[in-house]
Amino acid sequence: MILIEGKKVAEKRREKVIEKLKELGGIPSLAVIRVEGDPASEIYIRIKRKMCEELGINFTEYHLEKDVTQEELLNLIHKLNDDKSVNAILLQSPIPYHLDIMEAFEAINPDKDVDGFSPVNTGRLVQGQPSFKACTPYGIMMLLEEYGISIEGKHCVVIGRSNIVGKPMAELLLNANGTITICHSKTKNLSEITKTADIIVVAIGSPNFITADMIKEDAVVIDVGINRIPGTNKIVGDVDFESAKEKAGYITPVPGGVGPMTIIALMENVIKAYELQNK
Ligand code: NDP
Repeated sequence: MILIEGKKVAEKRREKVIEKLKELGGIPSLAVIRVEGDPASEIYIRIKRKMCEELGINFTEYHLEKDVTQEELLNLIHKLNDDKSVNAILLQSPIPYHLDIMEAFEAINPDKDVDGFSPVNTGRLVQGQPSFKACTPYGIMMLLEEYGISIEGKHCVVIGRSNIVGKPMAELLLNANGTITICHSKTKNLSEITKTADIIVVAIGSPNFITADMIKEDAVVIDVGINRIPGTNKIVGDVDFESAKEKAGYITPVPGGVGPMTIIALMENVIKAYELQNK
């Protein structure tokens, strides 16, 4: 079994990002919108802020109260769209239920949409055109490339169909000539499907859900899940790592697998946004 060490790969790519930033001739800037209400978001934003600060990317957080109206949220997005000093906009999800997140994503200028969640970028991705790629799936593609894992002709099973992970993941694998099966909570006989997978990407948010008996010998197992064990600080993935590692050919750990790649993919998208706007 080969451990896919996302942390190390992210560090390596970070060196490339530093080089790229030196050549850029300017400083990219990222605006992050946080709507009060989700404690985990604070942690994720802190990680993004820290990385930006370390790399010398301008980072500004716009903090909205949890009773903010849709109109106020959209007004802020429009203001940031029009602000030439802002290259990249990220709306941290989740946001409170009274707000329409899809409308908000749609309002973000596609050239500043570094999360790749606007319908324009999603559509471009589906059509195989250049687009901002959702950071987690983009980071996973970098991992597969780094470890020389070819996708062409492989049966890739993506478990989870969210707009931010599962669906864009499936599209990227399809664009790389994989043969794709997408599974979700209504899928019947899941383990019969997963057992035929050459590459499995699991993004469901269910601790230790995928066990060794559900995977094929030597499969590539990518675990996106981040699950906190209640009452502890322990984080586990969606894959039962201890059993799966005995059977997998390649496997990502949690933490230290996909997570660090998501952040570096975001930084690369921010640089891309700067370049797009300063051609
Ligand atoms: P969502 O809750 O939006 O989507 C979960 C998906 O999993 C849904 O499509 C759901 O199916 C499917 N699902 C749930 N239970 C099962 C099951 N038993 N069998 C098959 N499918 C199932 O989650 P996200 O995509 O946002 O995130 C998934 C996980 O990844 C979470 O743990 C999250 O914390 C983590 N994550 C990690 C990131 C990282 O950087 N490492 C980044 C983003 C997310 P249905 O559509 O039918 O409801």
